[in-house]
Amino acid sequence: MSNHRKRSDSRSAQAFAEAKAYIPGGVNSPVRAFKSVGLTPLFVERASGSRVYDIDGNEFIDYIGSWGPMIMGHTHPEVIEAVTKTAALGTSFGAPTELETRMAKLVTERMPSIELVRMVNSGTEATMSALRLARGYTGRSKIVKFEGCYHGHADSLLIKAGSGVATLGLPDSPGVPESVAVNTITVPYNDLEAIGIVFEKFGEQIAAVIVEPVAGNMGVVPPLPGFLEGLREVTRKYGSLLIFDEVMTGFRVGLNSAQGLYGITPDLTCLGKVIGGGLPVGAYGGKREIMEKIAPAGPIYQAGTLSGNPLAMAAGYTTLKLLGQPGVYEELERKSARLEEGFTKNAKELGVPSTINRVGSMVCPFFTDEKVINYETAKLSDLQKFNRYFGLLLDYGVSIAPSQFEGMFVSAAHTDADIDATIEAHYEVLKQL
Ligand code: PMP
Repeated sequence: MSNHRKRSDSRSAQAFAEAKAYIPGGVNSPVRAFKSVGLTPLFVERASGSRVYDIDGNEFIDYIGSWGPMIMGHTHPEVIEAVTKTAALGTSFGAPTELETRMAKLVTERMPSIELVRMVNSGTEATMSALRLARGYTGRSKIVKFEGCYHGHADSLLIKAGSGVATLGLPDSPGVPESVAVNTITVPYNDLEAIGIVFEKFGEQIAAVIVEPVAGNMGVVPPLPGFLEGLREVTRKYGSLLIFDEVMTGFRVGLNSAQGLYGITPDLTCLGKVIGGGLPVGAYGGKREIMEKIAPAGPIYQAGTLSGNPLAMAAGYTTLKLLGQPGVYEELERKSARLEEGFTKNAKELGVPSTINRVGSMVCPFFTDEKVINYETAKLSDLQKFNRYFGLLLDYGVSIAPSQFEGMFVSAAHTDADIDATIEAHYEVLKQL
């Protein structure tokens, strides 16, 4: 392949050094610093469609997609137009707008388990608020989460978490009080037997089970057949709520999200990423009877100065509308399958240990021949190999998340030529590992 060249990074290195003088670690979210891979992070200048461009003039085919939101590609003209037009009318009012109702209506139509929905500003706010609601509604304190699942950085959820905390080896962050941690029970993903034991012992004290219906923060790990059904059954039996954290999977794995794909109805759902179309948004919603416990309808408090922000609603609404056009998810599936097949063929041909997990446009190659079904098995991947792979891919003009414990996101803007160039780059990189 002709376009291999060592990525130039002198301007990014300079920008990073300056950022570190004013920002902890030089970044506003940890994984962006490329610490675990030991490289200079690329400072981005702009992005368009499937491409991202850094301040050193490098161009990359981008599979980070802002960590999920950019499912229609960067700077989609209709999204930009909606945001620009909306901005001209005012960027924030702290008062209700009709746009918020339109957005809520669309979300409830696409996800029938959601009868009422409240907008917030991030996935972290969504899960934190959903937990408070679950605890307030049930009058119980304990929650169950799965090892390697990441639900944002609220105290109760920062226990054995995935994503950046897994990447940086900080699964139980200092600063989370023991008194909070004792109420979080963690169980291996896809392990219904462990769930059974936990419920037998603590069932009457458990407010909720929170789960990523497709895990995307220990790499991509799909639910084994029967896993989500089993969670639905046991939570119903014990009067606990089932919370689907669809911050990543929501409108990513299908028009009706993971709950539509697997046919499971959770009590509460958390959303983020795609519903903001690249602006800061989160949301939580569910059964009317439960959601009506939230202030001002009910006594459980949750609020936000910028919640339902018009720019975010405009970007999100436009993105959801675009996703509703015929064939969008079918094309995402087709291109993502093409990527998976290409990667599989490369690894086989070159004798590199490989397992590729994929659900729709979430794709994740692991450097192991073992099946990856939970965090323990995800950690079997050769992380040294991953780190070299990551750096070499950048040199070949392909940008993926700098961690084995994250997936690749294919967008509607990726062309077949992008996919084929990525497969070719992957082949050349595997050869050099
Ligand atoms: N839940 C899941 C499943 C996520 O993937 C993330 C972010 N990667 C969050 C919650 C937290 O969202 P945010 O970063 O917007 O706070």
